[in-house]
Amino acid sequence: RQQTSSWLGRAWSGWMSVPLWLQILIGMLLGICAGLGLGEQAVLLKPIGTLFVNTIKMLIVPLVFCSLIVGVTSMQDTAKMGRIGFKSFAFYLGTTSIAITLGLAVGHIMQPGAGLAMTSAESHNAVKEVPSIMETLINIVPTNPIAALASGQILQVIVFAVALGIALVLIGDHGKPAIKVFESLAEAMYKLTDMVMKLAPYGVFGLMAWVAGEYGMDMLMPLIKVILAVYIGCALHIIGFYSLVLTFVAKLNPMQFFKGISNALAVAYTTSSSAGTLPASMKCASESLGINKKISSFVLPLGTTINMDGTALYQGVTALFVAQAFGIDLTWVDYITIILTATLASIGTAGVPGAGLVMLTLVLTTVGLPLEGVAIIAGIDRILDMARTVVNVSGDLVATTVIAKSEDELDLEHYNADAEQSQIL
Ligand code: ASP
Repeated sequence: RQQTSSWLGRAWSGWMSVPLWLQILIGMLLGICAGLGLGEQAVLLKPIGTLFVNTIKMLIVPLVFCSLIVGVTSMQDTAKMGRIGFKSFAFYLGTTSIAITLGLAVGHIMQPGAGLAMTSAESHNAVKEVPSIMETLINIVPTNPIAALASGQILQVIVFAVALGIALVLIGDHGKPAIKVFESLAEAMYKLTDMVMKLAPYGVFGLMAWVAGEYGMDMLMPLIKVILAVYIGCALHIIGFYSLVLTFVAKLNPMQFFKGISNALAVAYTTSSSAGTLPASMKCASESLGINKKISSFVLPLGTTINMDGTALYQGVTALFVAQAFGIDLTWVDYITIILTATLASIGTAGVPGAGLVMLTLVLTTVGLPLEGVAIIAGIDRILDMARTVVNVSGDLVATTVIAKSEDELDLEHYNADAEQSQIL
């Protein structure tokens, strides 16, 4: 018996040494096999998945609330850099809302979830009353923030958190103790998220078994389509949108830019972490693009914290995937809500692997889409994460370049130097 237990122990520690994203992928594949083998019986495995979904739900409100406040108050030391701070903030939010709109457009055109006809345990009100745009706008301000927190009105929670964050910064020293509390709570919530994500492989196993049991092989194609849609969206955003911004706003050669940042992009793609890529981005900004460190040392870290174009784009595609898969019609008010939520939520998304998946639950919750969708996406999330992190990092660097140019802090000769060199070569 001892032999068996030591064998089990070794197997367990072997399993635990597998990186989480791979565990989740394995969970998904095993779930699909189990589902295909068990057929309808696989529904018995679904509670494992539901338990996981509930644990994610538990995180949403406190995580968003604390991390948003910290995101906003992190601009405190830099308030003196007013103009640049304002420019960066506006640029970051503007490009993020364009990214999510692009994600929604790609998801709408490619219809990755069409034909899946899944049903959710949660009942989605089929005939939802469509509120007018005026009502939607008025409703984003909570009359009672505690009620908003308690009932999980995410958009209201976001608005309150951003407002509270700004107020805490404005009162200077008086705000510091509260900021410390929120920082510590946010840390704890990140840790808790970490712990919950460790359960993902099993949750994904349970939910994928159920999905595969019910829909058979029909569900593989939609997942491949999601990957394609996200990659196409990311490519369009980088090659199309960013090139346009660089060419017309900053009057710079985009080819030069992409050549200069290729190292950082490689790091971003392989690590799936824009925070982890920061040192590489800093190096590219000053050494390859000729940006004054005064600018890059402020705009880049700020971008890593609050700017997530790739994540927003991915949320657009995947939210539509879930809506299509569960046959839920979204109204245009839902679309606007998704754009608002994802843009604001990007402020509170950490630049670490998998953060976007947790934030996806937030977007889905706001428009009442079933969270089982998150577990289905989780299986392929790492592949999507790699692409969206590349967009996130590119976006930070585009902003830094544009702002540096507008502040006359970009060494044009340096920026264009490589081009001449490569022409000579
Ligand atoms: N991994 C992304 C990043 O670091 C965040 C995300 O999960 O979307 O930028």
